[in-house]
Amino acid sequence: MERVDCVIAGAGVVGLAIARGLAAQGFDTLILEAADAIGTETSSRNSEVIHAGIYYPQGSLKARLCVAGREMLYRYCAERSIPHRRCGKLIVATDDAQEPVLANIRANAAACGVGDLRFLSAAEAHKLEPALHCTAGLLSPSTGIIDSHALMLALLGEAEGGGAMLSLNTRIVSGRIEADRIVLQTTSTGSGEDFE
Ligand SMILES: Cc1cc2nc3c(=O)[nH]c(=O)nc-3n(C[C@H](O)[C@H](O)[C@H](O)COP(=O)(O)OP(=O)(O)OC[C@H]3O[C@@H](n4cnc5c(N)ncnc54)[C@H](O)[C@@H]3O)c2cc1C
Repeated sequence: MERVDCVIAGAGVVGLAIARGLAAQGFDTLILEAADAIGTETSSRNSEVIHAGIYYPQGSLKARLCVAGREMLYRYCAERSIPHRRCGKLIVATDDAQEPVLANIRANAAACGVGDLRFLSAAEAHKLEPALHCTAGLLSPSTGIIDSHALMLALLGEAEGGGAMLSLNTRIVSGRIEADRIVLQTTSTGSGEDFE
């Protein structure tokens, strides 16, 4: 039976980020991934948007973490040359009746700490996106896009650099608490193994 300080279930972006953090703190860390590569599930099937944090309920954990986390993510990408772009996002009203909704979105964003949303006239929005049909717009300059695969490779590299190990084709099938330890049972291509 293999014994480690910490086992991470799944090598998606969340598991890899946690593994990096634990390894950096000196924990003996093992990442168990059911698939034959990292990031083959949700983390590679998303929109690759770095969200500004506009729509969450004010005061919520999501609102606070999104605003703080996006700036950490931009910094992380810049420091490691991970492809990304702070390209901004346009939210548009396609008729006059929708324009008050833009004001509500801007007010909620401001209450969540996203104070940089700017109203645009139809002409200003058209200047940015000539193909757009709208009566007014909101520009969110803090929204961006990221290469999620490059991000995950960077996280894995730093986790492994800190001593973490990745085991692919290894699915956790059960776990039990025994006194001061947790025993996990896995299946892997070939045979099963226990990790503690
Ligand atoms: C359509 C869509 C669009 C999205 N767009 C965005 C966006 O633009 N921006 C954004 O920030 N977020 C977006 N998200 C959310 C984001 O993609 C997820 O929050 C994130 O990918 C979750 O990462 P994860 O590591 O928790 O999950 P996953 O990437 O799903 O990783 C889980 C891993 O665990 C493995 N696993 C599962 N069970 C076991 C087991 N028993 N044993 C071992 N391994 C196991 C899986 O194989 C997988 O690799 C989007 C989500 C969706 C669905």
